[in-house]
Amino acid sequence: MWAAIKQRLEIVAADLRRLDTAALGAAVNVEAAPIREAVTGAMRELAAAVALLPPPDPLEIARVPCPFCAQMIMPAATLCGFCWHKTARPAGE
Ligand SMILES: [Zn+2]
Repeated sequence: MWAAIKQRLEIVAADLRRLDTAALGAAVNVEAAPIREAVTGAMRELAAAVALLPPPDPLEIARVPCPFCAQMIMPAATLCGFCWHKTARPAGE
């Protein structure tokens, strides 16, 4: 899987190099077709690479319930993203 992702990212890099090369001549003569072709190809390969990525491991993203609304939030959050209450902060602040 990682080899497939690497291959697609290398295609994106090659497309972006072509885009950069095309942009070098843009001050003199803008030719849209090769630029659009490179952008379209890069976006397609990026989407394919993202689709290959594994789903996030729920154990890696530790969440704690908000003390006010019980929605799961990041432990380091100082403000709940759901109810916007300030969450408990360490003493001394
Ligand atoms: Zn909340």
